[in-house]
Amino acid sequence: MLAVVYGCERFHTYIYGKRFIVESDHKPLEMIHLKNLAAAPQRLQRLFLRIQPYDMRITYRPGKDMLIADGLSRLPSRDASIIDLDVQVGLVQFSSQKLQSIHEETCKDDELQLLKEIILEGWPETQRQIPSNMKSYWPFRDELVIDNGIILKGDRVIIPTSMQTEILNKIHEAHQGIQKMKLRAKTCVFWNAINTDIDKMVKSCHLCQEFQKSQPAETLMQHEVPTRPWQVLGSDLFYTEGQEFLIVCDYYSKFPIIRLVKGMGGTQTVINILKGIFSEQGIPEKLVTENGPHYSSSSFKQFAES
Ligand SMILES: [Zn+2]
Repeated sequence: MLAVVYGCERFHTYIYGKRFIVESDHKPLEMIHLKNLAAAPQRLQRLFLRIQPYDMRITYRPGKDMLIADGLSRLPSRDASIIDLDVQVGLVQFSSQKLQSIHEETCKDDELQLLKEIILEGWPETQRQIPSNMKSYWPFRDELVIDNGIILKGDRVIIPTSMQTEILNKIHEAHQGIQKMKLRAKTCVFWNAINTDIDKMVKSCHLCQEFQKSQPAETLMQHEVPTRPWQVLGSDLFYTEGQEFLIVCDYYSKFPIIRLVKGMGGTQTVINILKGIFSEQGIPEKLVTENGPHYSSSSFKQFAES
């Protein structure tokens, strides 16, 4: 299954002793398999997890040397519907029309066509053996895969030159400045000069500049590490799935306690929750909070003093 998904033309499996051996003609598979699970593209992680209980080794063998190939590897149709079942999960950010145009433009892009060929043939042993315009891809060559005609770097879609401006405009839409844009790009798209292009775009954008001015980065203030557990605690309120929660976290052990805030969640509710926690766990010397209305009110001050 893994080999089919990964685009091997031919592969052969057999048992050697207690070990399950997969010979594949797709070189990157050998490397990816040896890497940390987290470094594998998301869509492969599930498959890797599934095969984890087995003692398995994937080795590379050029197609011409593979005299016997498994039946599956000669599946007459490599139609996407066969292997799509639970594999295509990473590309949720794109509509199917958008994916189609990325596919078409990738086919017209000379650089990406060459890159595709190299990925399919397997990367050579040394960087000197590849054309100069492919050198920038060398450091992350193990992360590159082809999925339905689109090249992926991990979970990021490699965008052909002709579509880069369009995609750049899309991730720029919210005018959130350099860092947010780069963060957004990191989850879905990639091309070689993407960071430089984002820098240029934000620098020439009036709105992004305004946003960055109004949101200067707060300097990180380090807290002194307490000498024992439950001496200093941090507390804050947060929302998730329409519910409000209060979190108390011990600065020493980092142990978190989370309570649902019921009802309107006024200052008194917050005080009651904290009272409950302190009665179970003990009273801390210090409670660090942000300056929210619940924590800065006079009744909270009274509670803290008492
Ligand atoms: Zn902007």
